[in-house]
Amino acid sequence: MTTKNNELRSESVEQVLNELQGKDLVVLTTHKNADGDGCGSQVALASWLRSQGTETFIVNPTPFPENFKFLLPDESWVAEADSPGARELCDGADLVVVLDTGENPRIGKVEPLVRGLPTVVIDHHPIGQNPIRGLSLRDTTASSTGELVYDLIEKAGGPWSKTSDLGVYVAVVSDTGFFKFGNTNPHSLRIAAELVDRGVDPGKVYRRLFGSYSKTRLQLLQSSLASLDLDEAYKTAWMVVSEKAYDTLGATPESLEGFVDYPRFIIGIEVGILFRKVSRNAIKVSLRSNGLINVNTVARKFGGGGHNAASGALIKGSMEEVKQSVIEAVREVVEVSGILK
Ligand code: 5GP
Ligand code: MN
Repeated sequence: MTTKNNELRSESVEQVLNELQGKDLVVLTTHKNADGDGCGSQVALASWLRSQGTETFIVNPTPFPENFKFLLPDESWVAEADSPGARELCDGADLVVVLDTGENPRIGKVEPLVRGLPTVVIDHHPIGQNPIRGLSLRDTTASSTGELVYDLIEKAGGPWSKTSDLGVYVAVVSDTGFFKFGNTNPHSLRIAAELVDRGVDPGKVYRRLFGSYSKTRLQLLQSSLASLDLDEAYKTAWMVVSEKAYDTLGATPESLEGFVDYPRFIIGIEVGILFRKVSRNAIKVSLRSNGLINVNTVARKFGGGGHNAASGALIKGSMEEVKQSVIEAVREVVEVSGILK
């Protein structure tokens, strides 16, 4: 399937495909707290590489999320970064493929394990401050990394396994919010159509990803919504995840999927923020824009990154300090954007 999007990146697709071919052992990784795009892309690519006779393993900086384990035909495809097995795999690997991020700090404890290995980056984020070097297939017009993995496997002429079909589908629907977000493009819709044609069940995937809330998740949402606060003059709204509720409920970062969207869904609001204390002196901040404001500039100011409409950062300081400085930075960006006039 050739559409405008993948014609433009066809040269990088070819180069990366050449690099992937004929390897004995490849390690795949993605960013901390992998999402549906990170997990789906890597499982899809792992399945294809394995079909080519390449031993392929996933080594991520944080544990492979429980809610995406249904993508894996076998959990032995994953080696936890802390395990001796992961070090052994990385020592013996011919190549590391980094998916859904292109920045060194985002791969955390995997970075020292794969340092010095030939590297391929497959990503759709703008290049950050500390980019991972190596051959890359980067395209910020791609809805998701899954879209790029689709192009690679397609260029190779397949084979398309059920595992790759499901992985790419989950990657694309995760990052486009099931085709609701502004990054949805014709190519991603065509990919989904083809995968559904081949047997992916959209209803089943939706229920797995969004329609099956744990009690914990809903209780955490309840307590987070209670913290909702707005600065209507600056079209900004935010929520704070209660540290107490998070701990008492035994929540994980996956429990928070989609929480950050609620503040920006309020009529008249352009920017939504979610704050969560992750350690004694660090706050994880997630920023979302409805499209008029570039929140990536805010995230970058604090050492983070992401896309124009979806960004994040890990910021040192107390909740009050971080909240104040991030909200102030958002106000500045909103002010200069001219949308208040
Ligand atoms: P989320 O808010 O869902 O964690 O992330 C939204 C987007 O921002 C994703 O594309 C993610 O890769 C990026 N992002 C989140 N946190 C960080 C961070 O600490 N550093 C960088 N560079 N990007 C981040
Ligand atoms: Mn992504």
